[in-house]
Amino acid sequence: MIAFRKMFYKLSFKTGLTRIKQRYLPRYPVTILGYHQINTPEFLREMMGWDMSPEIFQSQLEYIAKHFTVLSCSQFEQILVEKRTFPENALVITFDDGYRDVYDTALPLLKKLGLPATVFVTTDTADNSCSIWTNIVYHYFHLTPRYEYQLDFPDGSSLQGQWSSVAEKRCHVFRVNRKMKTISNQDRIQSMSLLATALDVDFAEDPYDLMPMLGWDMIRSLVQSDIFTLGSHTVSHPILSRCSVEEQRWEMLESRRRIEHETGISCRYFAYPNGQLEDFSETTCLLGREAGYALAFTFQPEFLAETQQSMAIPRHPILTSDIYEFAWRLR
Ligand SMILES: [Zn+2]
Repeated sequence: MIAFRKMFYKLSFKTGLTRIKQRYLPRYPVTILGYHQINTPEFLREMMGWDMSPEIFQSQLEYIAKHFTVLSCSQFEQILVEKRTFPENALVITFDDGYRDVYDTALPLLKKLGLPATVFVTTDTADNSCSIWTNIVYHYFHLTPRYEYQLDFPDGSSLQGQWSSVAEKRCHVFRVNRKMKTISNQDRIQSMSLLATALDVDFAEDPYDLMPMLGWDMIRSLVQSDIFTLGSHTVSHPILSRCSVEEQRWEMLESRRRIEHETGISCRYFAYPNGQLEDFSETTCLLGREAGYALAFTFQPEFLAETQQSMAIPRHPILTSDIYEFAWRLR
C-alpha cells in the first residue's frame, strides 16, 4: 500500500497532475509550513522513524521557490490584519525549537533562493545549551540497555512494556512521550528522572552534541540576515495546557523578555509547543495576548478562515521526506 502511494505521488508529480491539483482544487489561502530540525541525527531517526536531511530540505525549498510566493511573518500578519487577499500560492516557512541547523543549513539555502522564514526559539536551550525534554526522552530510550520498563508517574498512573525490536521500542517511546504530554507540567518534570531510572540511563544524559541548538550569537546573526524573523516557543517547551496560569504566563513573558534582551528586536510571534488543540486553551491565548504576542501558531493543519483567530493560526507539520508526496500535500 505504501509502495502504491509512493508510486502515485511520483507519477502525479511527473505527469503534472500535482500542479493541476494545486491550481484547480480548493486551496488554502495561505500554506504555513512548520519544520523542526533539518539534519535528523541517528538516535531520532531510529526512535521516531523520522528522516529529514539537508538534501531533502533543499529539494523542498527549490520546489517552493518555483511554485509559491513565500511571505515573511510580518507580511502574513499585515495581510491577515488588513483582511486583504493573500497573493496566489502564498506560503510561510517556519521552524520550531531552534535547532542549530537552521543557522548552518537553512540560512544559506534560504538566502540563495531569497525566501524569508521564521524561527521559534525555546530560550532555555540557548541560555543553557540543553535539549528540549521530548528529545531527551527519545535519547533515553535510544541509550537504554534494557528491553523492558515500568514507569510509575507521580499521579499514580503507570506505563510498562517490553520490546524485542526497534519498531516495538518505538511504540513505547511514543506512548511515554504522549503520556508525558497529558500529565501536569510539574509531574512531567518529575517524571524525567523517574524515566531515566526506569530505563537505567543517567538522568544527566542530553543529546545536545548530537543535535545542537542555536546559541544567542547565531540567533542574532539570523535576525541580521534579513531572512529570518524571530519568534518565541516558550522557555522550556512545556505543554502549556498542562501548566498553571502562572507557569504559562512566565513561559510566554520570560521567553519574550530573553529574546528581546539578547537581540534588541521586538518579539511579536509565538508557536505553541506541540501545537495540537489540546496543548493550549482559551486562557493560553489570552495570556499570549497579554504577554504581547500578535500571532500564535498551532500545528493544526486546517484551513485558514477569513475570521481566523490570530492566537490560533493553523500550520502544516512537514511529515514526509518524499518530495513527490510533499508537493502533492502542499495546497
Ligand atoms: Zn517544539
